[in-house]
Amino acid sequence: MENHNPGVRCVVNTCHYYATGDHCNAQKIEVQHKNAKTSSETDCATFKPSMS
Ligand code: SF4
Repeated sequence: MENHNPGVRCVVNTCHYYATGDHCNAQKIEVQHKNAKTSSETDCATFKPSMS
């Protein structure tokens, strides 16, 4: 059963927590990095490679 976080849209379909519809099934996420200057310098530290 999917239990995604409604406040997060994520397109990283290679992540273990990714769910169809661009959802994230992680209970919480952590975003890095400190002192990022643009959105492209940020990323999800909770990412875990999917096994498939
Ligand atoms: S853990 Fe991060 S990368 Fe993985 S689906 Fe959730 S928001 Fe996306």
